[in-house]
Amino acid sequence: METLIANDSKVIPGTWVGKDSFLSTNLIESYSPIDNSLLGAVSTTTREQYDTVITEAYKAFKEWRKIPAPKRGAFVRAFADRVREKKEELAKLITLEMGKSIQEALGEVQEIIDICDFAVGLSRQLYGLTIQSERPNHKMLETWHPLGIVGIISAFNFPMAVWSWNSTIAWVCGNVTVWKPSEKVPLCAIELQKIVSQVLDEFNYPQAISSVINGDYRVGEFLSHDHRVALVSATGSTRMGKEVAKAVSERLGRYLLELGGNNAIIVTPSADLKLLIPAVVFGAVGTAGQRCTSTRRLIIHNNVYEKVLHAIKNAYNQLKIGNPLDEKNHLGPLIDKTAVDNYLKAIEKAVSNGGRIIHHGGVLEGEEYASGLYVKPCIIEVTPENPMVQVETFAPILYVMRYERIEEAIEIHNNVPQGLSSSIMTLNMREAEYFLSSEGSDCGIANVNIGTSGAEIGGAFGGEKETGGGRESGSDAWKNYMRRQTTTINYGTDLPLAQGIKFTI
Ligand code: NAD
Repeated sequence: METLIANDSKVIPGTWVGKDSFLSTNLIESYSPIDNSLLGAVSTTTREQYDTVITEAYKAFKEWRKIPAPKRGAFVRAFADRVREKKEELAKLITLEMGKSIQEALGEVQEIIDICDFAVGLSRQLYGLTIQSERPNHKMLETWHPLGIVGIISAFNFPMAVWSWNSTIAWVCGNVTVWKPSEKVPLCAIELQKIVSQVLDEFNYPQAISSVINGDYRVGEFLSHDHRVALVSATGSTRMGKEVAKAVSERLGRYLLELGGNNAIIVTPSADLKLLIPAVVFGAVGTAGQRCTSTRRLIIHNNVYEKVLHAIKNAYNQLKIGNPLDEKNHLGPLIDKTAVDNYLKAIEKAVSNGGRIIHHGGVLEGEEYASGLYVKPCIIEVTPENPMVQVETFAPILYVMRYERIEEAIEIHNNVPQGLSSSIMTLNMREAEYFLSSEGSDCGIANVNIGTSGAEIGGAFGGEKETGGGRESGSDAWKNYMRRQTTTINYGTDLPLAQGIKFTI
C-alpha cells in the first residue's frame, strides 16, 4: 500500500501509460467496504489524456508486434515472477479494496500467476495451419497476427485476475492493452500497472504496451466507440455488455463479452453429500455471492430435498461473517450500499412472489459491521415460476426448488436468460452424460460433482445467452486476440485459377 499512497498530494494519478502518469481534477474516492475507510483518491482520465494513451499505445504496438512471440512470453514470465514475490501484498490490497476473504484474494493472485504460465507456454505455439490446395504447385496456409490495441473493461469483483486473463494472452499474441478497471476498485489496477511498467523497463520494451485509464462508464465508452481499439474485452453486467456491444458493432469492431451468470446445481438422489455441501456453500457464499459463477439456484430431487436442505442449513449455521482480512471469517462485506439495497429488495420480492425463507438473511449490526455492508447469507424456497430466479442478484441469496424427473430439472435449469456455469451432483452415469449432452445444460461451463464456482485457467471461460458468448483464458481463447490470415503461395510456372475457371488474355 505504501507504494500506492506515496504521492504527497494524496491524489493518485488515474491515467498511466507505462510508468508515466497523468493527474486530472475529477476524482474517484476508493473506500474499503471493510470499514468505510478512505484508501485513496484517484484522478479520472480526461478525453485528452485518453487520446495520448491511445496514440502511445499504437506506437508501442508497432514495435511490440515485431518482437518474436517467445520473447514476449519471456516478458510475461518475468512479470509473473514479480507477482509471485508480491502475492501477499497484492492479495491484501484486493481484500482491502474489494472486500473478498483473504484466502480468495490469494487465490485471485494465484490466478494471475497461473494465466502467465499458460501464456508463456502459448507464446511458443499460436499455431496456424497448412491446408491442401486444389491447384498444382500451390500451398495454402493460415497464419495468426496480432490485432493492435486491446481495450479491457473489468468488473469490481475480480479486480486483478480478469485483467490478467486478457492482458497476458493479448501480450503474447503481440497486442498492447489499455485497461479501464471498475471505478469501485481503481487502486488494484494501479498497483498491477506499476509492476508491469517496472518489468517493461527491465526489458527495455515500450512502456505503452500496458496502460491504465480510470473513471466510470463514460471512460469505458471512450474505448467502445474508438475505431483505433481493435478489440474491446468487457467483463461486467449484462446491461453494460449490451451497451458495449452496440457501440462496438456500430463501428464493426470486435468485442468479447463476459457478463452475468445465474448458476445452478442439480442435486440428484445419488448426490454425495460430502461433495455437495462444501460445493454449495462455497458456491453460494464465497466472495459474499459476488462471483459471476456464484451458485444462485439449487434444483433438488424430491426424494432428497429435506435431507439436503437440512445439511445445508447446518453448514450455514457454522459460517463466520466479518473482517475478510481475518482468515477465520468465511465471508466479508458486500461492495457498497447499492449492493446491500439490491440484496434486501431481492429477498423482499422473492418472498412477495410466494418464496419461503429457509435461512434468514439481513444486514448485520454492531461495531465489527459498522460499514453497514455485511449481510447474512439467505436461503429461499421458491417455485421455478418465481420471477426472482430469472435475475442475477449479486449477493449471497440461494433459491432452492424441487424436481421429480431429470428432464424437468434440466428444463428448469435452462429456463433463465443467462448461461454461464452449471453443475450436476450425481453418481448415476446416465444422468451425468445426459446433463453434458446437447439436450443437457446450455451453459458455457458444465461440471459434474463439483460446484459452479472456481474455474481453472486451462479451460476456456465464458457463457452463452445473456452471459455474452465470449471465451477467455485457456484452451484456444487466444484466437480472440488475433486475426486470421489465409495465404496461397504459387511455386509453379502457371497461374491456374480456383474452381477451374478459364480466363485467357
Ligand atoms: P458493471 O457492469 O456495473 O461494470 C463493469 C465495468 O463496465 C466497469 O468498469 C464499468 O465502469 C464499465 N461500464 C459500465 N457501463 C459501461 C458502458 N456503457 N460502456 C463502457 N463501460 C461501461 O458490473 P460490476 O457491478 O462491476 O460487476 C458485476 C457484474 O459483472 C455481474 O453481473 C457479474 O456476473 C459480472 N461478471 C462477469 C464475469 C464473467 O466472466 N462472466 C466475471 C466477473 C464479473
